[in-house]
Amino acid sequence: MSVRRLILPAVVLLACIVPAAAQDWDNLSQLQTDEIIGSVTTDFYHEMGHALIDILQIPIMGAEEDAADSLSIYLITTFWEDADAQEIVSASLATWDSMYAPNAGEEPDYWDVHAPDGKRIATMSCLFYGASPETRAEFAEARGIPDKRAQSCAEEYLDLDASWAAYLDPLREGGGGSSIVFEDPEAESPITEAIRAEVDYFNDILALPDELTVRVQSCGEANAYYHGDDRSISICTELAQQVLDRMSE
Ligand SMILES: [Zn+2]
Repeated sequence: MSVRRLILPAVVLLACIVPAAAQDWDNLSQLQTDEIIGSVTTDFYHEMGHALIDILQIPIMGAEEDAADSLSIYLITTFWEDADAQEIVSASLATWDSMYAPNAGEEPDYWDVHAPDGKRIATMSCLFYGASPETRAEFAEARGIPDKRAQSCAEEYLDLDASWAAYLDPLREGGGGSSIVFEDPEAESPITEAIRAEVDYFNDILALPDELTVRVQSCGEANAYYHGDDRSISICTELAQQVLDRMSE
C-alpha cells in the first residue's frame, strides 16, 4: 500500500508558530528554514526507523543503520507528495554532501556502524529516485546517479517497499492512537513545530504497541538519537546550525 499524502509544507508550518528564539529564526530566509526542516525531518525518520525496529522487533538482515536510512526514504516517499518529498530529500542529501569526508580531506571511517557518508548518500539517492523514476529524472541527474545504477533503482525500491510495508501496513490498518508522545520543548521553533506535526501525523495513522517519546533538545552536537533504554528519540537543535553552515559554504 502506498498512500501519498501531504502532511504540511514547511511554509504553512511557519505561518502558525511564534518561536521563542524569534530573533534567530526571523533572521533566516525561507529557503534556509525550509532546508533545515527538510534535513531534520529526514533525520527524524531515520530515528523512527531505529524506534520501529526496536518496538516492533523487526528482524534486520544486514546493518540496522542501513535499514534506518532506507526507512527514511520509504516514509518520505509514502507520506509526502512528490514535489515536497523531493525538496525534503534534496535538502537532507545536500547537508550530507557537506559532511562527506573526502570533501574535508578526511579518510572515511570504515569501522563506524554507519556506512561511509558517500555510500549512504548514493544508496538513499538511488532508492528515492527508484520510488518514482517517471517524476524524478531531474533529481537523478542532479544527484549524478550513473545510468548503470539508475537502471536498478526502481527494483531496489520495490524490495524496500515490500519489506517495510509488511510491518507498517498492518499497523496502519489498526488505526491511529496516542502511542507517540511529543515532550514539551524548552523553546518553540520551526523544528519543534515540524517534529510535533510528524508525531501528530504518525499518531493519526498508526498506534505502536509501546509508548515512544520524541523530544527536540540541545544535545551539544548536531545529531539525532534513538535511546532504546527509555524508548525515546532526541532531535538535536544543533542540526539547524549544521545546515546553515553548509549553505554558507
Ligand atoms: Zn542511526
